[in-house]
This record gives sequence, C-alpha cells and structure tokens, in this order.
Amino acid sequence: HNTSRFFIRLADEHNSMIFISLPYQWAEFDIKELEKREPSKEKKFITLSAQGGNNQLVVASAHLQDGNWLQVGKSTSERTKVLERFRELLGIVLFPLVFVGFIGGGFLAYRALAPIRQLIDTVRSITQDIDKMQNRVPNPGSNDELEELVTLFNNMLDKITGLIEAMKNSLDHVAHDLRTPMTRLRGIAEVAMQSSGSLEQCKEALADCIEESERILKLVDTVLDISEAETGVMKLDLKEIDMGELINQITEIYQYVAETKSINIHSSIGQDLLAKADPTRISQVLGNLMDNAVKYTPENGSIFIKAWKEKEKIFIEISDTGVGIQPGDLTKIWDRLYRGDRSRSEKGLGLGLTFVKAIVELHGGHIRVTSEPGKGATFLIDLPAMVPSHNT
Ligand code: ADP
Repeated sequence: HNTSRFFIRLADEHNSMIFISLPYQWAEFDIKELEKREPSKEKKFITLSAQGGNNQLVVASAHLQDGNWLQVGKSTSERTKVLERFRELLGIVLFPLVFVGFIGGGFLAYRALAPIRQLIDTVRSITQDIDKMQNRVPNPGSNDELEELVTLFNNMLDKITGLIEAMKNSLDHVAHDLRTPMTRLRGIAEVAMQSSGSLEQCKEALADCIEESERILKLVDTVLDISEAETGVMKLDLKEIDMGELINQITEIYQYVAETKSINIHSSIGQDLLAKADPTRISQVLGNLMDNAVKYTPENGSIFIKAWKEKEKIFIEISDTGVGIQPGDLTKIWDRLYRGDRSRSEKGLGLGLTFVKAIVELHGGHIRVTSEPGKGATFLIDLPAMVPSHNT
C-alpha cells in the first residue's frame, strides 16, 4: 500500500525511460509528459497536473553517478485531503471562535467603558441641572488611566464648586459690607432734607455725604481686592524684589506721620532679602501694618521694623509700643470689618488686616500676631525667599 503512494521512474541521460513503476491510482496523470520535460540540475521539481482533477504529481529528479536520472513522484491528493479536513475544522472551530470573540470583546469593552459612561452621566446631569454640581463620578478602582481621569475630574469639580462657593460668599460679603455705609449715607441725606437748616448746615451734610461716599468707594475696592486674593483670582505681578529696599521705602513714607506723633521708627534690615513678590501688593501690606502701628501707638512711642532671612524664608516683623490687642481679639482682628473696641476713635474700615492676611497668603506666606495688652503688638510675616538660580 505504501509503495503505491510513490511513482518511480529511471531514465538515461537523454531522458529515455529505462524503468517505471506507476501505481494504478495514478492513471489520471499523463506520464508521457515527463519525456518531453527533461530534468536538469536547476529544475529539480516537475509538476504534472491530473486530467480533469485538482490533484498534482510532484516529481523530484536526482542525477545519478552513471548519468541516469532517478525520478520519484508523489501525488498531492493526500495533501489536498489534509487541507480539506483542515478547512472543515477551521469552519467548525473558527466561526464559533470569532463569534465568541465578538461577544466577549463587546462585553469587555462595555465593562471597560463603564466609568466613561458614568463620567458622561455625571457631566450630563451637571450641565442639565447646576444643583447636581455635588455629584461625583464613582471611582472605578481600576488603578489605571481611567481611574486617574475620574479622580482628576472629581478634583476639578471640587475646585469649581469651591470657587463658586467662595464667589457666592464674597458677593454676600460685599453686599453686607456695603449696606451699613450706604444706610449711613442715606441717613445723612435724609436728615439734611427734613431739617429746615441753613445753607451752611446743608453744605455740611453734603460734605459728610461726600466723605461717606469716598469711604464706600474705598471699601468696595478693598472688599473686591480681598475677595480676589482669598479666592486666588487676583493676578499678582510677581517680580524679583529686594525686601530690604521695599521696607526702607515704606519706612521713609511713614517717618513723617510718625514724627507728628513723636514716634520713633527703628529699623534693622538683614542681608540677602530677595523674594519673588508683587511689589505693589507687598507695599500695601507693609503700609497697612505701619499705618496700624502708628495709629495704635500713643505719642512718644516706638515702632520697630526688622527683616531677616532664615531657612528659605524671609521674615518681616513690625512691632510697636502701643495699646496692644486684648487676648480675645487676637483671632478676630483678621475678620472683615472687625475693629477693636478702643479703635473706634481712630479712622479705619476694619478691613486692613483682612487684606494683609489675604495678600500674604496669596504669596505663599503667613502672618501671626502676638501682643501684650497695654505694651504693644507684634506682627510677624514670613514669605518664601527666592531660590537663587545661579551658584553663589
Ligand atoms: P482698622 O485699623 O481699620 O480698624 P484693621 O483690620 O487694620 O482695621 O485692624 C483690625 C483691628 O485690629 C483694629 O481695629 C485694632 O483693634 C486691631 N489692631 C490692628 N493693629 C493693631 C496694632 N498695631 N496695635 C493694636 N491693635 C491693633
């Protein structure tokens, strides 16, 4: 049976047949063809096609030492059978496989996209109803880019809600802060209208009105500045500044006011006080603190201003020998419109320290106060020092 699989032919050097063994199954091939197609060393394989069939006979030729040719052939029928079987199997196995793949892939994609769908739902719910701003996308816990996206998205929502809240609050504050002086303004005008006073009295009332309006304008500006600084909306014009120089400028300005009250200003400024800060805003901060120090220090007192650098921070301390602050007031002085009991006689809006704190914190710094009532108050600011970019 095995031999019938092969065809053997022996031919002389002129390709004339010497011997042939041709199994009967192979009658479909025209063996005479081989006589026309001479084998050569280059062309080792000759292919014969069956008459009216798909089978092929592949014949290999070997050149023997005596010059004869030995040709061995094999039909491709077996190969074709194997291929057919393979095709069938492929049909049976591959199609269900592709089908399962499709379904499984679809399912996996559906599951993988679940966080995205939740993201979409959340965004949609927020855009449709702003009250849904509190909604958050559930964490997919997948520890991948999707989880990162969801976390970032939730953080962004937190930030936005925080900003909206702060804006709302500051709007409330502005409205509240304006109400009192506006009412006062109206009061002055009303009294002047109703009284049958002289022209002189009316002029006085008008002057009061103008003064009150100026206060209101200043209040609006300060309140807006505070709101902007507290919410982080304020744009700082950051520059490389020498704090020592800035302090000297401010001290010079307040020297004159201090002299009118016979107050001495002593300053001690250290070296290397470079900081990245907004010079206008920091000047306002120092101005406010100096203004308070002069305001709340009686005649013949002293004000000390010190500045030094320590561990990447610049410290500025302004202390006075004034009335000081009651322990109960130490935390309240930073509040909007808060004024100490004994400060009523002095001019002021009660917004100075609120502004100072907001600006210092916007710069990444801190401000603290200590005081011994009756002996004076000390305000200490720290600001991040500039890290030198060159090697020194
Ligand atoms: P204002 O000075 O307009 O009243 P501030 O916000 O600047 O408002 O200060 C709030 C309060 O803090 C003041 O009313 C005062 O009671 C107290 N205060 C501020 N600075 C000093 C100081 N150097 N010495 C004593 N009290 C002070």
